Amino acid sequence: MPTTSLADFIDAHPRLFVLTGAGCSTDSGIPDYRDADGGWKRAPPVTFQAFMGEEHTRRRYWARSLVGWRHFGQAQPNGTHHALQRLEATGRLGLLVTQNVDGLHQRAGSRQVVDLHGRLDQVRCMGCERRLPREAFQQELARLNPAWAALDATEAPDGDADLEAAHFGDFVIPPCPACGGVLKPDVVFFGENVPRERVTDAMQALEAADAMLVVGSSLMVFSGYRFVHAAARAGKPVAAVNLGRTRADPLLSLKVEQSCAEALAFLLA
Ligand SMILES: [Zn+2]
Repeated sequence: MPTTSLADFIDAHPRLFVLTGAGCSTDSGIPDYRDADGGWKRAPPVTFQAFMGEEHTRRRYWARSLVGWRHFGQAQPNGTHHALQRLEATGRLGLLVTQNVDGLHQRAGSRQVVDLHGRLDQVRCMGCERRLPREAFQQELARLNPAWAALDATEAPDGDADLEAAHFGDFVIPPCPACGGVLKPDVVFFGENVPRERVTDAMQALEAADAMLVVGSSLMVFSGYRFVHAAARAGKPVAAVNLGRTRADPLLSLKVEQSCAEALAFLLA
């Protein structure tokens, strides 16, 4: 029987598999990448191949990130994160898989979270796998690049900042303190695979779920879309809250075109 409201959908399916995307965090002041048609709002983000292969790309990335992190690192959870935490606390949510790298679900108190694309608050060495907290790395970047640390710029998604036409060649990036290797934010870049165990954990939770709920994602990236595809193949209903088109619109049982916080506000009432 088709459901007509999100409240009915959630009532009808006691164990939900939830997938969240950038639309969840826009109310926390973190801009998203895509417009209502799923197209890029700005230049596409850096690829894994460019980051690993080109020193200039790494300097540009970290210079922009040094400026962008100040804002990104201070973002706070909003009503959407709190509503999903409430859903978990009342036992209705099997697993929350997020495409976001901001850690705001955990900050809102959610416990069953898979960070599909990693976390921006960690830095990882590509040589020895050592991980460093981003906050400490940020301070090191600022110490080595005082002129850059004084700059300001318009924030972009994922802790990036719109900074162009500057002399990125001057920017100093410290190597891994243990092995001298290349340090990279511990997030999955475009052109990089999501670690297999994260996908396996998520697929197992999807199998155990009654239905899937997508919150704030256009599903343009395959890493998220594949779960909707798997749910549909298994005959599980899928609802989505998103402003604008999603790649999975033909597969949805229910589509709610509202901001995430508005659509989920009833869970906090
Ligand atoms: Zn290392």
